[in-house]
Amino acid sequence: MNTTWPIGLGLTPESSNDEIKAAVFEYARQCGTMTFATLAADGLTPTVRAMEVHRLDELGNLYVGMSHGKGVYEEVLKNPRISAGTMQFTEGRLGFAVRINAELEEVTDPALFDRYWEQNPGTKALYRRDLTNFRLFVMKRGDGEVFDLCEDDRTVRFRFGFGGAPARPWRYEITEDCIGCGSCIDGCMKGVMTIENGRAVIDHSGCLECGRCYDACPVGAVKKA
Ligand code: SF4
Ligand code: SF4
Repeated sequence: MNTTWPIGLGLTPESSNDEIKAAVFEYARQCGTMTFATLAADGLTPTVRAMEVHRLDELGNLYVGMSHGKGVYEEVLKNPRISAGTMQFTEGRLGFAVRINAELEEVTDPALFDRYWEQNPGTKALYRRDLTNFRLFVMKRGDGEVFDLCEDDRTVRFRFGFGGAPARPWRYEITEDCIGCGSCIDGCMKGVMTIENGRAVIDHSGCLECGRCYDACPVGAVKKA
């Protein structure tokens, strides 16, 4: 087993939203780059970019930078939303991933640019003829997730919101139509369902989002987001 495997980044179901956010942002900073999905300037075509991510302020925000001549700059001006992810595999080809969906906001504070160049001497050298060519954006508001398919057969996942945005809703939720029959519990792929007070409950921190509970319910009491 890969001993450096970051099982859920050490988070627990008791971890707060801010603790999850801080752990994910720090992991992204350590990775240094993420793959970003943007929407092309035509407003229709999905595009993908690999970009460096940095933490440049005391608040722990994540920043990305780019030349103003690149297509991605026009894309994010027109539609300042990105989905970013980074992933690694275990020896058994299971995956650990973090995801961040964010609204970007362009920043112009010279101190942020100074820190960017400090952390990025190679990029500074690349743009040395005209550093004003470069643009910086902060991930201002959004949500994210840690998703860990562990070698020990657990699924570990946590979600968070930031900048005033809520965490994304879980894919499957039990509604008040539940009659407590237990069919979903028998079918649960990860054994993370229990009956409490006569109604099924999902421990979302261990849910694979496989949908077997949804398929198994005889009364349609499992809601799909
Ligand atoms: S989606 Fe799959 S893993 Fe999650 S609670 Fe339902 S059956 Fe279990
Ligand atoms: S199968 Fe449906 S009704 Fe039965 S316990 Fe699960 S959610 Fe409730």
